[in-house]
Amino acid sequence: MNWEDFRHWGRRAADWAADYHAGLRNRPVRAQVAPGAVLSALPDAPPEGAEAMQAIFDDFEQTLMPGMTHWQHPRFFAYFPANAAPVSVLAEYFVSAIAAQCMLWQTSPAATELETRVCDWMRQAIGLPDGFTGVIQDSASSATLCAVLTMRERALDWQGNRAGLSGQPRLRVYCSDEVHTSVDRAIWIAGLGEENLVRIPTQGATRAMDAEALRAAIAADRAAGHLPAGIIACTGGTSAGASDDIAAVMDVADAEGLYTHVDAAWAGSAMICPEFRSLWAGVERADSVVMNPHKWLGAQFDCTTHFLRNPDDLVRTLAIQPEYLKTHGADGVVNYSEWSVPLGRRFRALKLWFLIRAHGLEGLREMIRNHVTWAQDLAARLEATEGFEIVTQPMLSLFTFRHLGAEDLDAHNQDLLNQINDDGRIYLTQTRIDGAFVIRFQAGAFTATAEDVAMAYDVITDLAGT
Ligand SMILES: *Cc1c(COP(=O)(O)O)cnc(C)c1O
Repeated sequence: MNWEDFRHWGRRAADWAADYHAGLRNRPVRAQVAPGAVLSALPDAPPEGAEAMQAIFDDFEQTLMPGMTHWQHPRFFAYFPANAAPVSVLAEYFVSAIAAQCMLWQTSPAATELETRVCDWMRQAIGLPDGFTGVIQDSASSATLCAVLTMRERALDWQGNRAGLSGQPRLRVYCSDEVHTSVDRAIWIAGLGEENLVRIPTQGATRAMDAEALRAAIAADRAAGHLPAGIIACTGGTSAGASDDIAAVMDVADAEGLYTHVDAAWAGSAMICPEFRSLWAGVERADSVVMNPHKWLGAQFDCTTHFLRNPDDLVRTLAIQPEYLKTHGADGVVNYSEWSVPLGRRFRALKLWFLIRAHGLEGLREMIRNHVTWAQDLAARLEATEGFEIVTQPMLSLFTFRHLGAEDLDAHNQDLLNQINDDGRIYLTQTRIDGAFVIRFQAGAFTATAEDVAMAYDVITDLAGT
């Protein structure tokens, strides 16, 4: 394909995308294909000769599309949303047409400076105080890895990268037992070892880590000769929205001199609404905070904003050339590749800029508030329906429930969930709460309406036979 052909196919792609989205409500949300069906429909060997674009496009539509789960479907209530507002899709189109590597200021000054600006817009939008500096990472998992590496280097007086970990005391990191698995992986990859991730039990309706138990665990570790390095708190855990009492965690961290990271990958988007900020009160005392505009907010994946109270610790951990440290930021030049693990960087700031401008914070707040209200309404309706139990009450737009109509509740709810997802009108996923299998519901699709959420009630109650 040359750029003249691109003109034609680019227009067709725009039409296709608009038609696809217009017809989404008529498609089953979760792909309804059997394992291996797509693979076996694809040729074993690559073509030796060039194929016509029309043939490639036809196979895309006929072979691949039936095997896609529609994450932008208005009735996608599974996992967490991965919203891609149309305007952010458009921004990504420009980004891929320009295809710049934005690792250094000089490799695209506008990309770097826009990143600085939109990160500060996001900082203001979610109510973090002046003084926090942001960077865009590819995912929350990467931001958490960066934070754990920073904890490690800081605790080892910046010797870990060069000298390795052998001969060092055991470094310890603390979190609740509700954190995302990205924390486990960060601990593995940073070389600390899973056994040194200390999981503090949670308590209460918010499923927050017990600050007294945290304090006791740190004291016991110090007595045993271990080296406490940091604490990872969470606001809006993946399973049921568990949220630590950030202020209480910060009290412990301050007293112990530990680096802190707050994982608000999903719930952070809701902080654009001031009324939800009490959920992470105390966050302004954290060293590092991550939230994903690529989840609820509508910035096409991937776009993670990572905020740092003092970026020097992160840059000191990740910069390849230590002398660079002396000037970073001072001469107006920031090289963001020194703030993340990969060297190459996409121009991710553009979609965030397009999104915030095209919708305005007020438009995005309205979406979030609607989702929260609709999820609460659905939870209340299910709670009032004979045979249903709300297992965890709504945390923002996320709650869990189960149906009580059988001896073996786990098997019964697994069966109900399978029926719901085979039906195709909505898509839900499961989790375990205190060992029990429960069904998870979150409202968060960019184009969801109150009617879409109401349909969830109809589908769930129909299939449960109530
Ligand atoms: C989704 C999620 C993550 C992982 O986010 P990625 O950007 O996919 O790495 C981490 N923590 C929480 C709480 C999440 O909801």
